[in-house]
Amino acid sequence: MSSRAAVVDTQGIEKVYSMGDMKVHALRGVSLRIEAGEFLAVMGASGSGKSTFMNLVGCLDRPTAGAFLLNGKDVSRFSRDQLAGVRGREIGFVFQGFNLLPRTSALENVELPMLYQGVSAKERKKRASEALARVGLGDRVDHTPAQLSGGQQQRVAIARALVNRPVLLLADEPTGNLDSQTSIEVMAIFQELNDQGLTILLVTHESDIAEHARRVVVFKDGVVLSDRPVQKRRIARIQLAAEATG
Ligand code: ADP
Ligand code: MG
Repeated sequence: MSSRAAVVDTQGIEKVYSMGDMKVHALRGVSLRIEAGEFLAVMGASGSGKSTFMNLVGCLDRPTAGAFLLNGKDVSRFSRDQLAGVRGREIGFVFQGFNLLPRTSALENVELPMLYQGVSAKERKKRASEALARVGLGDRVDHTPAQLSGGQQQRVAIARALVNRPVLLLADEPTGNLDSQTSIEVMAIFQELNDQGLTILLVTHESDIAEHARRVVVFKDGVVLSDRPVQKRRIARIQLAAEATG
């Protein structure tokens, strides 16, 4: 019996966008393995292919060439519908702009991904409440996004990403709209989730955010430029405690 499959295994994936006669090679052969329990940050200049890579790994799109195994399953030839199914069951997304429904309570926002998974109303409410408690918002379940700070909104989005118990959490610039203190609070949640075993793939252009991860991959012009473990890892909980005591 071979060892357990990697959560993410991309094998020479390429992505070419065609726009009329123009072809853009956004990815030119990216091979990356992400094992269960890893916390990986992807960095790189604008246009280097980070979001394209996230979209492929997140089953939002298919590679032009190469294979992509998610948890051992080759999803690179899946139909759009099959991809949507895998995405809903196995992947949690967190975005820079939170993407919450306005005038809708935190609880209902978090319940949303379960609507398509045939979970009963009672179970939805229970799981959504638990996910909100997990991100420290157990006392804010009835608040709408407008009644929450940016950091709290991002925590609702993280809770929403967790309710279907994904194998992989994807976050594209999750701290891009947050001040530095709030960014560290959000990184504390990611680190706590990762310590509990969740596999996380984060895109950021800020190196001090990337240093909260365990491994950093840098993209350049659609290829992997470097791939290294984080040496002096930042621990958000310790940074926050140091600030609190002044
Ligand atoms: P990053 O997230 O690192 O800024 P992207 O993955 O968004 O990079 O983009 C990589 C390259 O692919 C860029 O040259 C970009 O212009 C191009 N690109 C991205 N998405 C599309 C698209 N939907 N259609 C055409 N070109 C695209
Ligand atoms: Mg991008």
